[in-house]
Amino acid sequence: MRGRTESECTICGQTSTTFWIESLLHLTLPPGRQVSLQACFAKYFAWRSADDRNDKCQDRCQRQDCRRKCEAVDFWPPTLTLHLKRWLPTAIPYVFLKERRIVDFPFRLGADILPNYSGAPYSLRSVIVHDGHACGGHYTCYARDTSDRWHFYDDAKTPTACSPQDVAAAEAYMLVYARAPSTAS
Ligand SMILES: [Zn+2]
Repeated sequence: MRGRTESECTICGQTSTTFWIESLLHLTLPPGRQVSLQACFAKYFAWRSADDRNDKCQDRCQRQDCRRKCEAVDFWPPTLTLHLKRWLPTAIPYVFLKERRIVDFPFRLGADILPNYSGAPYSLRSVIVHDGHACGGHYTCYARDTSDRWHFYDDAKTPTACSPQDVAAAEAYMLVYARAPSTAS
């Protein structure tokens, strides 16, 4: 997808724009015992304080702590892949904790959740789950076929049929949405 990072100074008003292209969106989990994907998007698109040393008001207010940033998406791709950032850095280098909170995700994703989105709604196509911790684990996957039936995939084992309720209960690590008509609920 194609987007941009807007930066502005809250004192002198100086602005700058950085354009980016990403194959997936990396979403940070907001605070709360149980969080929704909508809240993850709200956090992603909200203004945040800028901590980039290269992005400062050199000529005007001569400060480094005056700027804030926000993200915007200008082109939403036909297949939208979301990465939920579950690895939390610790005081020890290269040691990460895993964020285990459940993220409630919708099976349909549209303009009610995605800002400046005007296309056909996305339908959930796949959920990738990571079991384990930062130093070792195992990936499994739920995926919907073209007949809207869900299947659970685990390495070389024969895929098993599963229900949308099974999918909804998954501890999602990555979510894949496809912009295509679907009757999946
Ligand atoms: Zn400034």
